[in-house]
Amino acid sequence: MSSFLRHYQTYDGPSTVLEAHDLASIAKYMKSDACKSVFIMVSPCNSCKQGISTSSGIPDFRSPETGLYANLARLNLPYPEAVFEINFFRKNPKPFYVLAKELYPGNFRPTPAHSFVKVLDNHKILAKCFTQNIDTLERRAGVPDDKIVEAHGSYASQRCIDCKRPYDAAKLKDKLLKEEVAYCENCKGLVKPDIVFFGESLPPLFHCSISALRSADLLIVMGTSLVVQPFASLVDLVPEDCPRLLINLEHVGDFGSRSNDVVYLGKCDAGVRELCRLLGWEEELEDEWEKTKDTLERVGVGEPASEKDKKKAEKEARAARFREEAEKAGAEENEREKLKDEVDELTREVEAALAISDNGDSKQHTATTEDPPKPTDAKEEHGSEDQKGPDGKL
Ligand SMILES: [Zn+2]
Repeated sequence: MSSFLRHYQTYDGPSTVLEAHDLASIAKYMKSDACKSVFIMVSPCNSCKQGISTSSGIPDFRSPETGLYANLARLNLPYPEAVFEINFFRKNPKPFYVLAKELYPGNFRPTPAHSFVKVLDNHKILAKCFTQNIDTLERRAGVPDDKIVEAHGSYASQRCIDCKRPYDAAKLKDKLLKEEVAYCENCKGLVKPDIVFFGESLPPLFHCSISALRSADLLIVMGTSLVVQPFASLVDLVPEDCPRLLINLEHVGDFGSRSNDVVYLGKCDAGVRELCRLLGWEEELEDEWEKTKDTLERVGVGEPASEKDKKKAEKEARAARFREEAEKAGAEENEREKLKDEVDELTREVEAALAISDNGDSKQHTATTEDPPKPTDAKEEHGSEDQKGPDGKL
């Protein structure tokens, strides 16, 4: 068992559904007929910086050094949250557009934790995946749209904030690339992706999906601080004896207080890999994750944290290519020189042979005409064997 695994001690009694409070028992339960409806909750973690998207390179929202809020300083916002406030957006949409370009989902690859959700769907046990992430990486990992509840909306659709008319995705992408604000073609209102801003209500789909949690056989919560409401309170909606698994860097919420809670403290990707190993789904997980390689668009927007390194790597690759080409050119030059020497040598031999048997020794002559085509300069300097008549004379 992984050393990351810790047993949270709040609940002292025996498990009523699981054999024990550990991942192996979760895996065993998942393979049983009793576990038909698995709910997932994922979000960017506000405190431990380990939301399930963090390993994809997407800056997390509140990290002081690399977090999104810190990067917002350059946008001259009165305060960082203003970029996601609908009233501020109405007055000054530009900072959001700059940020939206940086965070454009096509620039990031889903993580193994996203692919794990897809694997659950492959096994027909995924009921719903509630996500606070707006990055659409669950969709990009192949999780079907109807299984995803984006509690805070996402980039997946966009519309006018006034008349609500949907706006064309390709057009908005184009605008984002140019850092131009998009306006509604119907009423000239501002257009934004359907990301829920402060001051906006959560999507209707969120409200009508939460009742389904009452039928959950298992709840898996990954990468979250469980502080943002009403999302955080969803963990309480599953039945009292429903097994709940927390995969997170730190302990959050009331996990460990129920009879069938399991807490895995560690990174999300490590947690899902460990669980998949116990389920015998390890290979399937890696296969699904491998497929997500192709989801990257790298449309030229965004400056992920590693952009500097990427540029350096590109520069080095260019230099290496240049060196390689130069070496190749040098090698070709050497090859040409070598060939030229060979031609010279052959020509001398032919001339010598012709001189010896001036009356026509075709054997020697034939041998020379079977040689590969000679480089032009060699031909020019020494004459082509083809130009010689059957008797070896020009
Ligand atoms: Zn409109």
